[in-house]
Amino acid sequence: MMEFDQAQAQLAQAAQAITRRETLPLASLAGRVLAQDILATLDLPPADNSAMDGYAIRHADYQAGRALPVTQRVFAGDMPAALAPGQAARLFTGSLMPEGADTVVMQEDTREADGQVEILQAPRAGQHVRKRGEDTAAGQPLLAAGTVLQAAHIALLASQGLAQAEVYGRLRVGILTTGDELVPPGSPRQPQQIYNSNGAMLAALAEGMGAEAAHVLHARDDEASLSAAFARLLRDCDLVLSVGGVSVGERDLVKPVLESMGASLALWKVRMKPGKPVALAHVQGKPLVCLPGNPVSAYAVFTVLVSPLLRRMQGRGEIYPRVDWVPLRTARTRRDGREEFLRVRYQAGETPELQAYGNQGSGVMSSLPWASGLARLPSDTDIGDGTRVRYYDLRLWQA
Ligand code: AMP
Ligand code: MG
Repeated sequence: MMEFDQAQAQLAQAAQAITRRETLPLASLAGRVLAQDILATLDLPPADNSAMDGYAIRHADYQAGRALPVTQRVFAGDMPAALAPGQAARLFTGSLMPEGADTVVMQEDTREADGQVEILQAPRAGQHVRKRGEDTAAGQPLLAAGTVLQAAHIALLASQGLAQAEVYGRLRVGILTTGDELVPPGSPRQPQQIYNSNGAMLAALAEGMGAEAAHVLHARDDEASLSAAFARLLRDCDLVLSVGGVSVGERDLVKPVLESMGASLALWKVRMKPGKPVALAHVQGKPLVCLPGNPVSAYAVFTVLVSPLLRRMQGRGEIYPRVDWVPLRTARTRRDGREEFLRVRYQAGETPELQAYGNQGSGVMSSLPWASGLARLPSDTDIGDGTRVRYYDLRLWQA
């Protein structure tokens, strides 16, 4: 048996980031992984400018009761003339500071009449001026390779005048479901058959993380069908995920088929519930992970155990999302030597807590859309109502 943390870490080390890169325009960057460090090339703001609607003056010209002639009006986008001693310039938020001016008086503290402005409050030297480079100085690191680009990062790239950036290619994930009992949704079903949920589920999980579900194949429980499907996925994809057929049943042919393809396959009994049989192989230089066939197990195993490997291969810098400690609103007796991942729902409030789904059976798929996350319970340790446990938020762990 292998501990959960060890299995997760070993999977995450099973492959490096893919080497494919592409250069994309700003409009296509959302959700992509930056492949280069970005340094600022511009000072931002690029010139001193006003943080207020008001008047620019030289601070030394201020005297209580003295009015200054307003010699220019500077709108955002105008290039101001230099300000001579004893003059004031009318300006607005974002207007450039005239050369020589060093202080902005906001309009609420002034009275303008007949082309003269009177300053009613003694200004502080340099007030309400945004200095050149105070946000970002040229040469400063801006974004690190491995960042998943979102609106905030794209705004920063745009502010530097950059119209494109180099990102990792989308990770191509190949998915293989197995089992003679399965039929595709949308087709008729015999009484002895069930619909295939894992194919669509794993494709959605991969795509939800920004990867591409490049192929979703199904193989019957026979060697020819399995080896043809694996061969196709290994040729076209960066990472292969197979589901089912990897226990010790008579029809569990995934292991022998992969071995016949030259793989050495490590079959792990991970100390976690749901989800015991998980396998890792390298075949033709590609990592391949076998997940348990039960959809609830596959969902949990993908989320908490396999997703760090996907993030690593995508080139992402952070591969382990945050885990919180939250009180669990139920008691649980733990005896079976495995850590348990309960389907729970996070209840916000003054004291946030986790509510557990009533039926934690590994066949209960209706619990999946109900749950906002998984609560990790230690093995062989009874849990009292209100005990703080590790909470894996699906919004983080499936992203
Ligand atoms: P296996 O590991 O192949 O023995 O599968 C374990 C259980 O999960 C069996 O009850 C299968 O019928 C079920 N199962 C396997 N694959 C799928 C799938 N793609 N969709 C729905 N149920 C599945
Ligand atoms: Mg099967």
